[in-house]
Order: sequence, then structure tokens, then C-alpha cells
Amino acid sequence: MNLEQQLNEITGRMYGKNIAACTDAQLYNCILQLAKNRMEETPVIAGEKKVYYISMEFLIGKLLSNNLINLGIYEELNEILAKNGKELSRIEEEEPEPSLGNGGLGRLAACFLDSIATLGLSGDGIGLNYHFGLFKQVFEDHLQRAEKNQWIESNSWLKKEGSTFEVAFGDRKVTSVLYDIDVIGYGNGRNKLHLFDIASVDESLVKKGIDFDKEAVEKNLTLFLYPDDSDKAGNLLRIYQEYFMVSSGAQLIIKELKEAGRDLHKMNEYAAIQINDTHPTMVIPELIRILTGQEGFTMDEAIQVVSKTCAYTNHTILAEALEKWPLSYIEQVVPQLVPVIEELSRRVAEKYEDEKVQIIDKDDKVHMAHIDIHYGYSVNGVAAIHTDILKKTELNHFYKLYPEKFNNKTNGITFRRWLLSCNRELSAFLTQTIGDGFKKDARELEKLLTRIDDEEVLDRLAQIKKEKKEQLAAHILEKEGVELDTNSIFDIQVKRLHEYKRQQMNALYIIHKYLEIKAGKKPSTPVTFLFGAKAAPAYVIAQDIIHLILVLSEIVNKDPQVSPYMKVVMVENYNVSYAEKLIPACDISEQISLASKEASGTGNMKFMLNGAVTLGTSDGANVEIHELVGDENIYIFGEKSEAVIDHYAKGDYVSRDYYEKSPVIKEAVDFIVSKEALAVGHAENLERLYKELLNKDWFMTLLDLEDYIRVKDQALKDYENRQKWKRMMLVNIAKAGFFSSDRTISEYNRDIWKLR
Ligand SMILES: *Cc1c(COP(=O)(O)O)cnc(C)c1O
Repeated sequence: MNLEQQLNEITGRMYGKNIAACTDAQLYNCILQLAKNRMEETPVIAGEKKVYYISMEFLIGKLLSNNLINLGIYEELNEILAKNGKELSRIEEEEPEPSLGNGGLGRLAACFLDSIATLGLSGDGIGLNYHFGLFKQVFEDHLQRAEKNQWIESNSWLKKEGSTFEVAFGDRKVTSVLYDIDVIGYGNGRNKLHLFDIASVDESLVKKGIDFDKEAVEKNLTLFLYPDDSDKAGNLLRIYQEYFMVSSGAQLIIKELKEAGRDLHKMNEYAAIQINDTHPTMVIPELIRILTGQEGFTMDEAIQVVSKTCAYTNHTILAEALEKWPLSYIEQVVPQLVPVIEELSRRVAEKYEDEKVQIIDKDDKVHMAHIDIHYGYSVNGVAAIHTDILKKTELNHFYKLYPEKFNNKTNGITFRRWLLSCNRELSAFLTQTIGDGFKKDARELEKLLTRIDDEEVLDRLAQIKKEKKEQLAAHILEKEGVELDTNSIFDIQVKRLHEYKRQQMNALYIIHKYLEIKAGKKPSTPVTFLFGAKAAPAYVIAQDIIHLILVLSEIVNKDPQVSPYMKVVMVENYNVSYAEKLIPACDISEQISLASKEASGTGNMKFMLNGAVTLGTSDGANVEIHELVGDENIYIFGEKSEAVIDHYAKGDYVSRDYYEKSPVIKEAVDFIVSKEALAVGHAENLERLYKELLNKDWFMTLLDLEDYIRVKDQALKDYENRQKWKRMMLVNIAKAGFFSSDRTISEYNRDIWKLR
């Protein structure tokens, strides 16, 4: 049977119709079935040794297109559907998007699974099957409201495997049920994403919005990712979730090793466990507990082999994001782990006096990262500058003890999703221009550099950008009800809302621009400022920043004097699917975090690959982008990380000084509580944000604001030199190959996992 016959067979069986007679929703279900069958037939990747990538988040996004591309049937299916009067891009809209992650960290895990399978390495993901994922964002009255995101349907990518495990907590025992999602490599075999669910989960616990009884753990454990952790019950639930994941994962790993007839004393020869940030740290004491309690290991033997198996990735230097749990919380949730953690801590205390490297500190708090560093064999940062800061400052005490453990693995993104799938036009043009070698070896994109003086190539790149802007504009008109000018410059900042990412600085620029236009200084090319961001429900200032942006969009877009020259849009519920539409349409990529705070960023890489020019600080992977493209093809501004770290050390940054000495800054900040803004927004939110900026401004917005305005104005002006801009686009695309997650994963394998 050919592909068309197969699909017709499925539509006939499921709905009693042929392809042409099916609705898009029906076709989605049928193509899902077809893809699942094909995946089932794809051989599982085998190997002596397997990596387990354990993570609280896997922001996988929709899977249909990617799986079809990786199976090698996207084009053919596209044609079959077109012939039958159907559109694959419309059918894709029917797929619900799982939101099993917050942002970069979870998306990285998803890109890594794709690359591990594509490189033919044996490696599975271990995570949780959150029924409502992260919340779904809706805007109401210029404020964010959170709703549950129901993504699991009766027909989905999830496969119930029939395996169950018992997980014991101090006060109750629960059953863990294993679900798998197949992961198909690009033209390669199959691995798995294991997602554990609690058998007694009860969706009806969620009454309105995302509120639920936090104490009913056996019912709520896998309902949401990161439930509100602003109170004790929220914190305890988080520990329940973490332990549930690592205990299920540890049991699965040991079961697989035993089934393969491996000697657990040599576990490290057959398994590597990559711990994605500190959330899965308890896998270390849990494995030790199982090996000593059930497998007859001595404590020394268990610690030794587990330490040679586990490796840790650090994702942040933000103090509030480094987990420290009160020992009493762990005692309450998993008392059986406490003796192991105490023993691990005792051994450290015996060897090292330094208070800064202890596992359990004077206040009886357990430092999760310290467990990973002492009892893992590798510690990696996620971009060169981030790893440097870890070694020199943040983890310097550990670096002195274990220099050999520290290494850098600059993040990457899968080009299947972030080029081949989201920008078929660019991908087809690249294939036509430099051949299709770049699909397997991303560094081949550099071949494009030989065409830098080719007018036809440059024009076509600009033309594709215009097409992607038109597609995005159509989508935004439908979803947000705002009409965009596709001749305007698309300036985009999309990422989680956080003060360190400084969406508020972008908002202040917009105010500045608005006031300039009101004063008669009109830009020759109009600009569209686009935002997308979810804020943690308990993060008050982040909510206030969203409020400000929504208020600004109302003021700007409704002002007939201003709106022909600029528009402001914050899209609702930014997620992977939205990213896939926004990124290819971008001219200027906003990567403006306070230097030293963004460990790497991966959004910056996606934009670059799709021909946007970065406007950014010397932070995270921006630094490496800068080195690759050179000064002429990027806009860098702001204080460097050394200066920022120095400000923190001395405590000498006073935002009010910047406000008082610069009329431009003062005018922009004052607008937040102006009559105009208060007429549209809420005094409570706007005044709180205003005061925060003046009295605290922990992430130094005003420090960089003037330089940001200067450099951003320059970028907007340079855009008008079309020739120059097109060349910048070309260089950015050509140099993006380094950021393929295939490169990142081969480095993890070469230096850490050593699978073959
Ligand atoms: C890539 C991605 C991120 C990470 O963006 P950063 O700019 O690196 O923070 C967050 N959310 C989604 C949906 C993404 O695709």
C-alpha cells in the first residue's frame, strides 16, 4: 500500500469516509494514527550504554509536523492532502499543545531528545505527565488570568505501557503509571520519553482557574507543572512531585539494567543520568537508598557507583532559583531519604570545613546543587560565559575542589523544528542555493557566505521574510484582532516574563518612542513591537509588567497620531506553536537580559537561524553569537557582566540616581503613573511597578536604558539601508550552524556520556 492508500484505509476505518470527505479534526486523528503506526515500526535505538535525561520539564510542543518530517513523509503527505483539497498546516492547528514546561529549560530538554535520536544514540527522557501542564494565559482587563490547559485527548501521542511502580511517601503510598511518547530521530531510529502519572489523579479537583486543594497529594500530584510555590503547601507539593519523578525513574532504570542482565555494581558502564537543573537531584540519594536497601550494596559501594553515573547541568545563577529545601520538609514528604542525605552531608563535612560547600547548612536547609556537585561526576554550564561565571564566582568554592568536573556545553536548538518545520520557505530556498547537506550537518550553512554579494539571493531572503511577516500578520489578526503593517519593522521579545529578562526596559523604550512621536519626531519606517510572555502566577511584579505592556498597547494602537508609525502587541498564551510563527517573521530579536543573568538563552539562536538580527547585551549565548557574526552583524549594548557582578558585590547601584540625572529616563519612567496610563490601567499595578523601578530595580533596568535607546535607534535606522540589512540577515543564517543541538549533544556524548 502506498501512503495515500494507507491514509484512506485509516480514514475509512475510523470515520467511514475517504480523505476528501473528512474534516480537519478527523484528518488530524487519522494522520496521528498513521504516524504512530510508522513510529511503532521504527527500530528502537540499541546500545551498550544509555543516557537517561531526567527533567521536570519537556516543552515538546505539537508533535505532528516534526514527527512527519523525521519520518521522512511530510512532503509526500502534504501533496496527498493538497490533491484532496486539504491543507496540512490547517490540520496541524487541530493538535492540542502540551505545555509540559515553563520556557528555555524545558524546550532544551525537548530539543535534546530530538538530537539524541537523530544522532542514533540510545537515550530516553524521564519526566512527569502533567494533565494541565503549565497554565493557559488569557488577558482580561489588561491583566493575565490563568486557566488550566487541557491537552490530553483520548487519541494522543501518549502510550500507556502497562508498567507501574509503587512510590512511598512518609504519610502515604501511591502508584506510578508509565506513559511513553515515542521520539523519532531525523531519518533515524526511536527512543522514548517516559512520563509518569499518578494512578489516583483526579482532574475534578480543579474548580476554577488553576486553584485546587494542595493537600490532596494522591489526587493532585500530576495535575500541574510548578504549582504556586508561594506558600508551604505549594513547596511541599513540589517536593512530592520531584520525589515521585525520581523514585519512578530510579526504579525504571534499575529494572531496565536488570532486564538487560547488567551488573549493578558497574551501573556507570551501562547508564548515564543527566540531571537537568536541581529539580531531579533526589535521584542520587534515591538510587543509593535502593542499592543499599534492596540490592545488598554497602554505603561506600552505592555512593561510588551512583557518583560515577550522575551528571548535573546548571541552568542559572539566580539565587532564588537554586533550590534549598528545609530538611524538615523532606522529612515530612520522604523520611526514608533523610538518613541518606544526612550521610552524604556528614561525609562532606568530614572532608571539607568550608561552610559554603556543605549539603545541610547551619539552618538545616538542604542545598540540592551541592548534592549534585559532590556526588556527580560532571558539572556543566550552558554557555561559555555562564560556565566561566560558575567557575570564577558562583561555584568557585566547588571549582577549587573539583576542577576536573567542570565543563561547558553551549546550548543548541533542533533545526528540524526551528528551521525545516517552522520556515519551510527558507529551508527550501537554502536547499536550492547550497544543497541539502545542512539538514544533516548544520555547519554547511556557512556555504551561504559565498553568496553575500549575490543580489538575487539577498532579495529572496528579504522576500521570504516578508512572506513570513504576512503569515504572522494574518494569524495575529485572527487571534488577537489587531492589524499589523507588514512593511513595518518587526521587533520581537518573546520569552518567560522575568525582571532579569527586562521586558520592562523594552516597555520604557516604547514609551520613549511614543513620546517622541507625540512631540512630532516621526520615524521614517514604522515599527511593530511584539511581545509574548507568561508570568508565574505568584510573581507580582511580573504581572505588573504584563499590565504595563497591555496598557501601552491600548494607548499606542488607539492613538491616531501615533499608530501609523508604531504598534504594540502582546500575544496571548505564548507557547511553542506561537514561537514557530513569530520567530521566522522577526527583523530584530530582543535579547536584553542584564549581563550575567541569562545563562544561555535559546530563543536568541532560533531568531538568528531565521534571519533576525540580534539586539542584545553581552550575556549568555549572545556572546557567542557576537563572536560568530562579528561587530557589524549584531547590536550589542549595556554594561558587561564583570561590571554588573561588581555592582552587586559593592551594592552601589542606585536606580534613583539614573532617574534623576537623565531627563529621558525620568520622562519614560514617570509615564507609567501618568494620567494617560492611569486612565487605561490600574493604579495598584502601575504604582507598584513605578516604585519598584525607582526604589529597587534589582535587575538594573535604568543602568542600561540610555545605551539601549541609542543602539536600538541605530538598528531601526540601519534597517532602512536595505542592502546592508539583507547582508546582515545572510550572515546570521550562515553562522547559526554552531547552535544546532546536534553539535551540543555530540559534545555531551564526547565529554560526559561516552555512549560509544
Ligand atoms: C525557545 C523558547 C523559550 C526560551 O526562550 P529564551 O528567549 O531563551 O528565554 C521559551 N519559550 C518557548 C515557547 C520557546 O520556544
